[in-house]
Amino acid sequence: MARHGGRGWYGRVIAAAVGVTAVAAATSVWTAQAGSVGGHQAPASPAPPKVSPVSAAIAHASDAGAHAVNITIDDGPDPVWTPQVLKVLRDNGVKATFCMVGTQAEAHPDMVKQVVAAGHRLCDHSVSHDTTMDHKSQDYQSHEILDAERQITKASGGVKPMYYRAPGGAFTPYSRNLAASHGMRPLGWNVDSKDFERPGTSAIVATVQRELHLGPTLLFHDAGGDRSQTVAALSTLLPWLKQQGYSFGFPVR
Ligand SMILES: [Zn+2]
Repeated sequence: MARHGGRGWYGRVIAAAVGVTAVAAATSVWTAQAGSVGGHQAPASPAPPKVSPVSAAIAHASDAGAHAVNITIDDGPDPVWTPQVLKVLRDNGVKATFCMVGTQAEAHPDMVKQVVAAGHRLCDHSVSHDTTMDHKSQDYQSHEILDAERQITKASGGVKPMYYRAPGGAFTPYSRNLAASHGMRPLGWNVDSKDFERPGTSAIVATVQRELHLGPTLLFHDAGGDRSQTVAALSTLLPWLKQQGYSFGFPVR
């Protein structure tokens, strides 16, 4: 279900203006209301969301510096493949960023909790992985992003996703600003391992090695079909990257 458009991606990155997040300053309303009811305590109200807005520009860099890579794992969680990916990451001492589909997170909350417990980060990858959502209404985009945020946060036991990656890179200025205002940095990628197409383990390894010069954020998948080639490729690539002197980080926020 989850082919990431490669070609359209670069055009979208270029087209995407570096947006500045417009954050509603709604919290002052709550502050103003607190305790203002004639000497009585204000009735208990749901607290306003405590989020630190982040940049709405699509992130590619690593927080671990210039000679680091970001491993990103998309479309899960999946009860068969996510545990195998987690094991390879654990065996190599690598932390990654998991871009989860909301319905998958809802279906496999134990997997989401395992990802978080292992020290990896969560990324919102929309509810239904509609790679044409950049052509849909703002209301549709809002539901896809914010419903997935709720699904993932509930499944994780309260840990919010820190990034938003549009399915297939189908960002819009609206979706980037919406995600950023909820504390989710829009997240791109530099190297598509093409693992989704199952070209063979050695081909996945070769693609990453050949295209690593494009940038630090590497794209893999832990769902959407048989991901045994992905697991095998990671078990080769992670030690190789270390031998090449790379460290592993998270995408910048
Ligand atoms: Zn995807």
